[in-house]
Amino acid sequence: MSEKYGKVYLAGSGPGDPDLLTVKARRLIDEADVVIYDQLPGEAILSLIPEKTEKIDAGKYSGNHTLTQDKINEAIIEKAKEGKTVLRLKGGDPYVFGRGGEEAEELVKVGIEFEVVPGITSAVAAPAYAGIPVTHRNSNSMVTFITGHEDPTKEETGLDWELLAKFDGTLVIFMGVKMLERNCGELLKYGMDPKTPVALVEKGTRPDQRVTIGKLENIAALAEERNVKAPAITIIGNVVNLHDILGEQHSNY
Ligand code: SAH
Repeated sequence: MSEKYGKVYLAGSGPGDPDLLTVKARRLIDEADVVIYDQLPGEAILSLIPEKTEKIDAGKYSGNHTLTQDKINEAIIEKAKEGKTVLRLKGGDPYVFGRGGEEAEELVKVGIEFEVVPGITSAVAAPAYAGIPVTHRNSNSMVTFITGHEDPTKEETGLDWELLAKFDGTLVIFMGVKMLERNCGELLKYGMDPKTPVALVEKGTRPDQRVTIGKLENIAALAEERNVKAPAITIIGNVVNLHDILGEQHSNY
């Protein structure tokens, strides 16, 4: 490993409320020479990056998806090779549906030292702010995280919906607002109870958080009616009923 290479920190920003940054991520925001960020952490967190720090918006590398990720990897590696301390800041936790694992693999390949800084994933924090514990002894004692967003042009979904429809735990679906109707349809097709409670949490932990509660049979229509937009997370299971008891929590940063 070359002495002159800088170190890369692959860090999660949490779900958006700056108070939910880890102490380590907060310190790295102040100390890094370069911050390579996605839009997902949100303005409140991105505005904490000091003036003097070099900032690279990874989201600007849009277009072809694969190329995008390649370009991001290139930027991270280039800056580390310049001897800079690089903070790669991603929403939520870097290793939960954020391609953080792939970025880390690239760093290993080229021999650049890196450290992962876990963040609070939106899969847990967004439901929590919406008054929904993802597990509860009386209803769901298992939880699974799945990605709902897949290429709509693909015929096969790649996910075993039959297995998921029978899963006796909470399902937390990332992304996939656009695929909600298809995904709920798959669960219904394989026999999941149409009355299963479902929550959609949009912009969880942020001041403009919005919660939509429904059932498996009508949540897609409700989402359409209320014009639900990304970032939003879907929670399916009886734990959703706790929303009425525990109540919603709001940030006003
Ligand atoms: N690594 C991230 C997830 C990245 S995938 C994490 O651990 O949270 C992006 C998806 O995460 C979004 O499409 C959405 O489903 C979810 N997400 C991220 N932040 C969110 C938030 N504040 N509220 C609701 N969903 C969020």
